[in-house]
Amino acid sequence: MASLQIGPSIAAAVPWLEELPAPTRAALLRRARHVEAGERLIAAGSYPGCIFAVIEGELDVFVCGECVATLGPGELLGELSVIDGAPASAEVTAKTAGRLLSLDEQAFWPLVRQSHGFAVALLTKLATRLRNNNATVADHAEQRRQFEREATFDALTGLHNRRWLDRTLDRLVERAAHSNEHFSLALLDVDHFKRFNDTYGHDAGDLVLVLVAEALQEHVRPTDLVARYGGEEMVAVFPQTTADDAAKAAERLRKAIASVEPLMPCGTQLPNVTASFGVAAWRPGRTGAELLKAADQQLYAAKHAGRDRVHLEPAANDEAA
Ligand code: GH3
Ligand code: MG
Ligand code: MG
Repeated sequence: MASLQIGPSIAAAVPWLEELPAPTRAALLRRARHVEAGERLIAAGSYPGCIFAVIEGELDVFVCGECVATLGPGELLGELSVIDGAPASAEVTAKTAGRLLSLDEQAFWPLVRQSHGFAVALLTKLATRLRNNNATVADHAEQRRQFEREATFDALTGLHNRRWLDRTLDRLVERAAHSNEHFSLALLDVDHFKRFNDTYGHDAGDLVLVLVAEALQEHVRPTDLVARYGGEEMVAVFPQTTADDAAKAAERLRKAIASVEPLMPCGTQLPNVTASFGVAAWRPGRTGAELLKAADQQLYAAKHAGRDRVHLEPAANDEAA
């Protein structure tokens, strides 16, 4: 600890000191102290028992190991613990060497009464802290919403993503099984999309994926669900739908995709694309993954048969025959 003369840095940082009676001021100045860079001033969970007013230097405030604020001259710290008697929620470490005034509990309340400037500095500090906390809460809420969106939706097309499908498909299958309803799906893949990208560029490819996704959403029923399975593969899920009706729906989607006329923002008209579809229906005992695999086999068959077509898995009794 070192005693200090009242100098320009003190007058600038803690102007309220001038309002105090000379003996109080002298007592506070006697308790002014130097800090070294890296010195820990307040440990989280401990009771600091005094308020520090920064005269010179900078202090870092850490919450859960993350630096949430840096305090400079004029700032107060430790005031909440002195006011409500609870342990400190943050850890405070000197970022640089500096000087602090330290006000213990005995000094604190008389100071609030004697110095209007100190009371204002304290209230301002508390108001700023409240505002920052509100802003942090709002940031975290927005971040959480963003994480939830990313975990569920594909950023390019706005369709549900594969993670969502993996989580949801078995639930839908179980619901169909439980209520003894038909349930089908179509897996589709844009034809020769690598060639399209190579010829017209990745941005053109992205635009086509967005337009294909829009076409799918426009041409399914409100109860159907569409997801981007990955790359240029998408899935249309048809609850309460027989295999034959799902094949008809897939045919409608195939035509809708083939009639999309992609126009680049720069005005370049791109050629139409086509897509191949594999359709399969749920059967008792089949998991969501097995249903997808069955649709994938039909998609493979549709590609081999010449693309731009819908292949429907034969019914189980047809296969047996
Ligand atoms: P096929 O008719 O047999 O499906 O041939 P294909 O060329 O469509 O199939 P392939 O799997 O060889 O190529 C898929 C292409 O899709 C390659 C990849 O660059 C492109 N692709 C995947 N995701 C995206 C994307 O998000 N944007 C763009 N522009 N292209 C993508
Ligand atoms: Mg593919
Ligand atoms: Mg493809």
